[in-house]
Amino acid sequence: TELTSLILSRIRDVYDYPQPGVLFKDITPLLADPVAFAAVVDELARWATADSADTVGMVDKVVGIEARGFILAAPVACQAGVGFVPVRKKGKLPAETLSAAYDLEYGSATVEVHRDAFAPGDRVLIVDDVLATGGTAQATVELVGRAGAEVVGVAVLMELAFLKGRDRLEGVDLRSLVIV
Ligand code: 5GP
Repeated sequence: TELTSLILSRIRDVYDYPQPGVLFKDITPLLADPVAFAAVVDELARWATADSADTVGMVDKVVGIEARGFILAAPVACQAGVGFVPVRKKGKLPAETLSAAYDLEYGSATVEVHRDAFAPGDRVLIVDDVLATGGTAQATVELVGRAGAEVVGVAVLMELAFLKGRDRLEGVDLRSLVIV
């Protein structure tokens, strides 16, 4: 589609970042283009609202995953007319938190959310920029569930299909604006 090609034209390949051998998808050119940024936010917000047949349904909260997920999830929440909840790396949230640890290629990482971030049964859309191995999204799904909310979907700008992150999100409505 038109949106797909616009997105692809605004994502830059950076070789050997953050380590040698890794190809990093840099979304900063997309964020710097007001037309592309707005189109992406529109499409993600459409998934969070019930005004279309192709939707994950009306949600109560949009969760953004630190750090690039924040950049997308905050305007999506605003546009959808619902609250924004940050999921952050360990130690960054000030009040009482719940944590979920997950494995990285080397070592592990932990994501956290405020214990009182959700009302019981809140319907939640999780937003991030890129789905790679799916570890971050999987840990976030688990975390949001443990915080008493219902994950109705995970939405990403770009899915790196060769890393098979989708397989780690079985039973989750995962939607990607572009799959490469
Ligand atoms: P995963 O846990 O799925 O392996 O990695 C996804 C997380 O790492 C996301 O939060 C995403 O922001 C970041 N990430 C991994 N690879 C890339 C990439 O190539 N480009 C960008 N922009 N983020 C990436």
